[in-house]
Amino acid sequence: MKKILPISIALLLSATVVFSQKDEEKVLKDLNAKTQKYGDIAHEIWELAEMGYLEEKSSALLQKTLSDAGFSIEKGIAGIPTAFKAEYGSGYPVIAILGEYDALPGLSQQAVPEKKSADKAAGHACGHHLFGTASTAAAIAVKDWLTSKKIQGTIRFYGCPAEEGGSGKVYMVREGVFNDVDVALHWHPGAENEASAGAALANKSAKFRFHGVSAHAAGAPERGRSALDGVEAMNAMVNMMREHIPQDARIHYVITDGGKAPNVVPDFAEVYYYSRHGKRDVVIDIFDRIVKAAEGAALGTGTTMEYEMIGGTHELLPNLTLQKIMYDNLTKVGGVTYTSEEKAFAEKISTTLGAKSLDMETAENIQPYKEEARAYGSTDVGDVSFTVPTAGLGTATWVPGTPAHSWQAVAAGGTSIGTKGMMVAAKTLTLTAMDIFNNPETVKAAKAELEERRGADFKYIPLLGNRPPALDYRK
Ligand SMILES: [Zn+2]
Repeated sequence: MKKILPISIALLLSATVVFSQKDEEKVLKDLNAKTQKYGDIAHEIWELAEMGYLEEKSSALLQKTLSDAGFSIEKGIAGIPTAFKAEYGSGYPVIAILGEYDALPGLSQQAVPEKKSADKAAGHACGHHLFGTASTAAAIAVKDWLTSKKIQGTIRFYGCPAEEGGSGKVYMVREGVFNDVDVALHWHPGAENEASAGAALANKSAKFRFHGVSAHAAGAPERGRSALDGVEAMNAMVNMMREHIPQDARIHYVITDGGKAPNVVPDFAEVYYYSRHGKRDVVIDIFDRIVKAAEGAALGTGTTMEYEMIGGTHELLPNLTLQKIMYDNLTKVGGVTYTSEEKAFAEKISTTLGAKSLDMETAENIQPYKEEARAYGSTDVGDVSFTVPTAGLGTATWVPGTPAHSWQAVAAGGTSIGTKGMMVAAKTLTLTAMDIFNNPETVKAAKAELEERRGADFKYIPLLGNRPPALDYRK
């Protein structure tokens, strides 16, 4: 359903838009014509469901799509085999569109409206198959427009692996691959259409490994020292600590190895921790206290402990200069409408989410613009946003009411509902990049805003330190 522009926005846009309205119509028409093609690519990546740093085929498919369209490809950047950069054009400005393609472990699901595993190790429960594909579609559409209009500038696509816990972009930022980028654009699949100023929590994650002494748990327990005791003592201390940290912080863990058999005192145990907050300094403090709890636990249980940093991301820094352009374009593109078949699918999904009825509003409409958003997830786009002026959006690729990281997200993402939402993102990203190429003054304003927001004495320090990319974190 197309929304009618409010008069104020229409007036605001009129000056720059009138001249390029024909261009926009053509670009949108071309993208519409390629819906099937990009839908197929996204579906292939959905089927592959490759996890972080293991996205070899997914990355190769997007590389081929971009290279066939005339982009030059540089792969294996920042020491990550599945990371790549695709580029077209030359000179200023350099606009980058980010794409992701990693799946989540344990969330295999078929494209059906009831919980049914596809018997794979992972599933696209965060819609990154759509993320990578729509961003690719946008980069190609921008390239086609640049060529046809002989406009100067560079369009880039960054293939960013392992967003889910692997902090792929952090290594890319650390390596400086975004240093000559003027503006970065991104998006994320979701259950509604929005282009408000984004928010995300800074995050530090690590695996804590305890080493003990194994012994017969009944015959000679006094000879053993349980590594699992170390993990449990650590967890007990951290759980008590929750009362004494800022309210809006988040700590979560899973025991990834708790021993193998009850009759053997485990000589090894591992627990995987996340700590998050809206300000990275708070996260750094909380994480240091978690490490102290681990050290104390080892001391008290007669075990030893070492830990490995796995991920670390900055909070998301908004850029309102760019964000408003993104929002105006999303309003122009409009939300998604379902066919009767899609509606029947959505209604079934909706009942599994405990909804009384399917509320199509959030798929069809655009959420009002907000300058301050609250969000409790984390993303490695945060680190990019501290380096380059960055703006993003979310579109309705899932049935209204669907949370991320759910089987319902995997299911809808594997259908035409996912494709429709993805194309809204592709169009909005394309129009936004065109607006910036048309008006390079925007870049200056966006850069000035970035500098002001991050402060004069800002120095980029990656939260995961200097460790090499954790390429085996999903193995
Ligand atoms: Zn995601």
